[in-house]
Amino acid sequence: MAQEHCVIIGNGPAANQAALTLRENSSDARITIVGQEPFPHYRPHLLPEYITGRLSQDDLCVNPPAFYKECGIKVRLGQKVVHVDFNKRELVLDHKEVISFGGLIIASGGKQRIPEHLQVFDDLMLTLKTPADAAQWIEQLSQVDSVLIVGGDLTSLSLTKALLSLEKRVIFMLNEDSFWPVPLCNELSEKIKHMLTERGVEVIKAGRIKRVTRVSGRSLEVETDNKTLRVGILGAFFGMTPNVKFLARSGLDIERGVLVDEYLQTRFDLVYAAGDCAQVYHPTIKDYWVSIGYQNAINLGKVAGLNLLGGMLSVDASPESIFFVDGIIVNTSWWTEF
Ligand SMILES: Cc1cc2nc3c(=O)[nH]c(=O)nc-3n(C[C@H](O)[C@H](O)[C@H](O)COP(=O)(O)OP(=O)(O)OC[C@H]3O[C@@H](n4cnc5c(N)ncnc54)[C@H](O)[C@@H]3O)c2cc1C
Repeated sequence: MAQEHCVIIGNGPAANQAALTLRENSSDARITIVGQEPFPHYRPHLLPEYITGRLSQDDLCVNPPAFYKECGIKVRLGQKVVHVDFNKRELVLDHKEVISFGGLIIASGGKQRIPEHLQVFDDLMLTLKTPADAAQWIEQLSQVDSVLIVGGDLTSLSLTKALLSLEKRVIFMLNEDSFWPVPLCNELSEKIKHMLTERGVEVIKAGRIKRVTRVSGRSLEVETDNKTLRVGILGAFFGMTPNVKFLARSGLDIERGVLVDEYLQTRFDLVYAAGDCAQVYHPTIKDYWVSIGYQNAINLGKVAGLNLLGGMLSVDASPESIFFVDGIIVNTSWWTEF
């Protein structure tokens, strides 16, 4: 394997850890990272700070480009994988270029989950996953004074903090979908309401959003079951879902994410998946769990890298760290710390 071309789809923490692990354990492996975003590997949890202007784009970056040159890792930015042919062992990029691989690690992460009833308003809502999303927030915040946050996850809480520091009016709409995948019981809902109100956030308990209309360049009208609100920005925060649509016709086993065994191997030889895009089998609970979170992604990236080189490491996930919500089995310290 060490002489073959090892390709990694994605440029997040799982992908980067996989690439570095491959390099540390094989000095002659040919390693390529293919990432669809134009940005070098960044820390997503710093995006809210970046929106406030207190951090620059350089502050988001984990390693300078020279680092990858020194390590002999080729990084192809702004190149989206649109298909993988596992029989030919090739991946196809959106500009039609074909890249051959001997070993492959899929680390395509997650994308924002938008509940079905809100998908029709997609282009009227902002989410926050990438520096490109952050740029949209920065641009729109320069023109408006108020933000309505719907859904709610840990990202939305840190963004709320950032918005308050910019002296914006923040309205937080709590409903049963908030803080997915953590179930929002009455007690938790009251606790969050208290915490947010104390910081100057207007918390409203409204039903579901029924309609969103743009009334002017700086204003949206949001209609719920029991309220109509005028706001500058509507921010949607409903957690993440694995980003695996481009693999749909590849022959991989996919449920929510790419199904892998406890060694992170897919059904194809020398093909692994790691990070938020993976759904990992747990031999004790005898079911698959979805990973959400930065540290999990790094851990899985390391295991995938070592196993691609012939190791047999199983993922270290204690059954206690895995919890079940809304039919989804999740493993993340990020959420349980909440
Ligand atoms: C604003 C924000 C705050 C967060 N805060 C925390 C926190 O405090 N603690 C915590 O534990 N977690 C936090 N998270 C979650 C954490 O960042 C993710 O769980 C982690 O980044 C997952 O890593 P990953 O490598 O699996 O995927 P990602 O980081 O999602 O990376 C996936 C990569 O794959 C690329 N990609 C996707 N599809 C393709 C394709 N078809 N072709 C090529 N490339 C592709 C993407 O461009 C990206 O580079 C936060 C996330 C956000 C957005």
